[in-house]
Amino acid sequence: MKTSLNPDERGYYGSFGGAFIPEMMQANVAELQEKYLDIIGTQEFKDEFDVLLRDYVGRPSPLYLATRLSEKYETNVYLKREDLNHTGAHKINNSLGQIILAKKLGKKRIIAETGAGQHGVATATACALMGLECTVFMGELDVKRQAPNVGRMKMLGAQVVPVSSGSKTLKDATNEAMRYWIANPFDTHYIIGSVVGPHPYPDMVAKFQSVISEEIRKQLKEKTGSELPDVVIACVGGGSNATGAFYHFLEEEKVRLIAAEAAGKGLESGFTAAATFKGVSGILHGSKTLFMQTDDGQVVEPHSISAGLDYPGIGPALAHWFETGRVEYQAITDEDAMQSGLELCKLEGIIPAVESSHALAVLDKTKFGKDEHVVVNLSGRGDKDLETYLKYL
Ligand SMILES: *Cc1c(COP(=O)(O)O)cnc(C)c1O
Repeated sequence: MKTSLNPDERGYYGSFGGAFIPEMMQANVAELQEKYLDIIGTQEFKDEFDVLLRDYVGRPSPLYLATRLSEKYETNVYLKREDLNHTGAHKINNSLGQIILAKKLGKKRIIAETGAGQHGVATATACALMGLECTVFMGELDVKRQAPNVGRMKMLGAQVVPVSSGSKTLKDATNEAMRYWIANPFDTHYIIGSVVGPHPYPDMVAKFQSVISEEIRKQLKEKTGSELPDVVIACVGGGSNATGAFYHFLEEEKVRLIAAEAAGKGLESGFTAAATFKGVSGILHGSKTLFMQTDDGQVVEPHSISAGLDYPGIGPALAHWFETGRVEYQAITDEDAMQSGLELCKLEGIIPAVESSHALAVLDKTKFGKDEHVVVNLSGRGDKDLETYLKYL
């Protein structure tokens, strides 16, 4: 099977993707399907997006040759510093892209779902910047677990709606956001936080995050004379930072792409979030993809020490790249991720998000050549994870 970078007109990447949505959501999604490529392809859109990425987010984010880490793993390790973005992770790239699009569609209100609160904070930030009303749906359990991010969203002027259905976490928040959207179709845009959901969301979010690999190519060329690294490594929750880091290398077959999935307490422990290892094909949140499910198709509760990777599935493009073998998947346990995160603190003076620590752990599990150039996407900073790290010190 040929590997596709872009979906076909029905939103399929190989056998995954599509738009499986209730009748009532059809109008909203169809409007996006018809208009998104035209709008984001205009010079006016590109100019507005570029200025915000530069002057507000602080892009380009540096590509940093981590010398002590390189010495330890006997290769050349470069860190793509998404942790230095405004709001502390890659999520802001997507929230800003979608909010500019929402304005061009004439929308007045924004809704979003959030798990750990990182996407909620990024979206509340974008709404404050643009003067749009913002409502964030968040599982009741997450509201309790992630109090600082709830506080941030409120300070930024967003309304946070606790969701008390189901397991009171991310998938329930997503269901509730979709329900609200159906009830308020005309003036509201739903900003989904990863490369998941019905077509065109996976492609739209991929294109907004693709700035990551666009920059890596330029920066690597300046540093090494070649635009192409030997390896790119990223962690996968829904898959947006990985897609952003892989995007402009996907069709360069010489570049090895490695995705780190959260194995949780271990693949066979019953407490895991590794969707390619433990998932099967089915319909989740509007698209056909791989997710962990029971024999009768009920979603299995995921587990990961990192809230950002604690999702039962992956985006349809990532399922397709697994299916074709273009992307290699590795399962990284909570324990391995924590050790690799603490190692980065000591060797490089950088405290990574626990999510990003899963990508770093691949360095310890894989042998790279001493002349190879290995890029690790550092998707976010670890300020939010101090309590989690301190338990492992
Ligand atoms: C949300 C998040 C992730 C996981 O989401 P993806 O869509 O898979 O990128 C990873 N890292 C950080 C820092 C996050 O905030």
